[in-house]
Order: sequence, then structure tokens, then C-alpha cells
Amino acid sequence: MRLIIVGPPGAGKGTQGTLLARRLGIPRYSTGDILRQARRDGTSMGLEALRYMDAGELVPDEVILGIVADVLVKEESEDGFLLDGFPRTVVQAEGFRRLLDEMGVELDAIVDLAVDEEEIMQRLAARGRRDDSLATIRRRLEVHRAQTQLVLDWYANADVRILSVGGVGDVEEIQSDILTRLGL
Ligand code: AMP
Repeated sequence: MRLIIVGPPGAGKGTQGTLLARRLGIPRYSTGDILRQARRDGTSMGLEALRYMDAGELVPDEVILGIVADVLVKEESEDGFLLDGFPRTVVQAEGFRRLLDEMGVELDAIVDLAVDEEEIMQRLAARGRRDDSLATIRRRLEVHRAQTQLVLDWYANADVRILSVGGVGDVEEIQSDILTRLGL
């Protein structure tokens, strides 16, 4: 299966995406994780991404599309993959569509994890990651609201199945909701 998991920062995309990918035997790629690793490695991409990430802004589309193009050509991605935190803009969705067309494959579904903003603020403040200061969290939520909804609208227009799943509650129950919605 070729899947995308989206949702506001702190919705549990990482947790649910990891469980889902393991269950399906497909690799999971998080653009956020790849960028954080690039920062730790001190690569030029990591250094470029740093100022956007620390301000809660989106990293430029061409940087992100380069990352995704690289993971899609991996042998392990041949039979499916799960992308976490991508695409976040319509330009990314369009670029991704082109990459999939070149590979001659289609996206099966988008899992949209829904969690309200108050819950998100509490979760992220408790998580305390480097880019999780309160001001950054607010900005990331704003960016999410503004951009990600446009992406979902784009996919709805493209007739891609969007599965909206409640992201509050027991981890296993949320996972089983996702599996049910996927018909598994
Ligand atoms: P995440 O771990 O998915 O919350 O991502 C952390 C940060 O990495 C975001 O706030 C962005 O600055 C950057 N980032 C991750 N994925 C993307 C993406 N698809 N497009 C643009 N920026 C991204």
C-alpha cells in the first residue's frame, strides 16, 4: 500500500504511522525526521532547513521534494510506503503526483488524524522538542491550518480516498480504527 498520514503537529502521526507501517510491512518516511537527521549530520540541506524549522515555518518545497524523490527510488519502497508529514503544500502534492506518475503507481489513501488544537497545545508543550517552544507551536499550528487544508482539498478534488480518523484516545484503538477504515 502507498499511504500518506497527515494531521496537525502532535496528532500522533509518528506513533500511528510507525505502527501502521510495521503492520503492513512497508517503510515509513517522515520528512521531519529526515530533516532533523540532516541537521544532526550538519549537511548543507540540514543547515538550510534549520532556520525554517526553528521558526515553525515550512522548509522550501524543492528541498522537500528532493528528499521524497530520494526515498521513493529505494528498493524497499517498491511495494509500498507510508509518508508522514508530507505533502504539506499543494506544490508538494503536485510534485509528488508527478513522481508517482513516473513510477506508474498510485496513492491508495490518505489517513487524516484529527485532534483539536487545545489538546495539541498541551501535548506539544509536554513533548518539549527543540522546535517546540510555545510561539513555535502556535506558528506551526497556524501554518498547518493554512496549508494542509489546501492539500486535503487538492486530494479530494483528485479523487484520492481521505480517511479521517479521530486521534484522541487509546493508541491501539486509534490504530484499529485506521486499519478498519483501510479495509484491513
Ligand atoms: P514534523 O516533524 O513533521 O512536525 O516537521 C518538523 C518541521 O520540519 C516542520 O515544522 C517544518 O519546518 C519541517 N518539515 C517537515 N516536513 C515538511 C514538509 N513536508 N514541508 C515543509 N516543511 C516540512
